[in-house]
Amino acid sequence: MYECFADEIAIDFPSVGHVVDRMRDAFLGERADADVVATEVSLSREEAWRGLVVPLDVPIRGLCPCCGGRGETWTERCDRCCGTGASLFLRSVRLAVPARVVDGARFRFRISSPDAASVRVEVRVAIRSAA
Ligand SMILES: [Zn+2]
Repeated sequence: MYECFADEIAIDFPSVGHVVDRMRDAFLGERADADVVATEVSLSREEAWRGLVVPLDVPIRGLCPCCGGRGETWTERCDRCCGTGASLFLRSVRLAVPARVVDGARFRFRISSPDAASVRVEVRVAIRSAA
C-alpha cells in the first residue's frame, strides 16, 4: 500500500515542476507559453569534473526572411516558409558548464533576438559512464 502511494508521487512530480515553472514565469512577468527548447549535452566524466564551454546550436523560430513573415510575396504563397511566415534558424550559443557538474543537472537560459521570439532553453547534462 505504501509503495503504491510512492508511485503516485513519482508520477505526479513532473507536473508539479511544470506548475512551479509557470508560477515563476508569472512572477517574472513572462509568458508561460513561450517556446521552450529542451536539449541535452553529453559529457565525459573528466569534462564534467573540470567544467567546459559547450557550443550549442539552438533552433529559434523567427520571421521568414523571404516574405518578412507575411507568408506571401505579392499574391503568391511564399515557397520558402510554405505560407506560414515563420522560419526556423539556428542560433549558436556557448554554454559554460561549471566544474563538478552532476549528471542530470539542468541549465536554463533565455535567448532573445530582435528578429525572433524569445526562446527558453533547457539543457540537461548527461555524463557518460564510459571514460
Ligand atoms: Zn516566407
